Amino acid sequence: MRLILIGPPGGGKGTQSKYLIDQFAIPQISTGDMLRENINNNTSMGKEAQKFMNSGQLVPDSIILDMMQKRLNEQDCNNGYILDGFPRTIPQAEKLDYLLKGVNQQLDHVIVMDVPDNLIITRLSNRRSCKGCGQVYNLIFEPPENAGKCNNCNEELYLREDDNPATIQQRLTVYHQQTKPVIKYYSDQRLTKVIDSKGTIDEIRSDILKNITS
Ligand code: AMP
Repeated sequence: MRLILIGPPGGGKGTQSKYLIDQFAIPQISTGDMLRENINNNTSMGKEAQKFMNSGQLVPDSIILDMMQKRLNEQDCNNGYILDGFPRTIPQAEKLDYLLKGVNQQLDHVIVMDVPDNLIITRLSNRRSCKGCGQVYNLIFEPPENAGKCNNCNEELYLREDDNPATIQQRLTVYHQQTKPVIKYYSDQRLTKVIDSKGTIDEIRSDILKNITS
């Protein structure tokens, strides 16, 4: 199963990917997580990417495509994957098509997570992530059991640097301008399934499963 999850920042791509990993026994490939790992490890790529991420801009296609070409060649991708946050631009989508064609593979579904902008702003400004295991919480919709601490590993929770109001607004603008055309690109290929993603995590999960298994 080769799936793409497309949606605005805070649209629930990461949360839903975690369920799909178990359901289909395929890896989640999140370009955002890969970039943050590079930042944490202080790599030169991480340093370059951080400037764009902190200002709510997309990281240049050349960096993303180089990183993804390597990642998709890894062995754990042989039976498929869930792409979370990639492709985000038309050149990224075209390159993915080119790579897939080269190995005679196809995408199965492109899940489009549809969430209004006002809900995104509420979700992102209340999102907290664990410093230890990366588990994501929402202070309103899915709070941790103990304030400020992760349920799994008891590490501290933090607010992502790009989850501040000005950067959230910028990321939404970038989403509408640069990523929305990618949805059209895939709907022209009849690959998209649009999921109303305003509801609870469980409602969204069952809607996604219904759409990709029917
Ligand atoms: P995310 O964790 O998916 O919200 O991504 C966080 C940030 O990483 C984005 O706001 C971008 O700056 C950058 N990023 C992640 N994926 C991509 C991508 N496919 N293309 C360009 N920039 C990306």
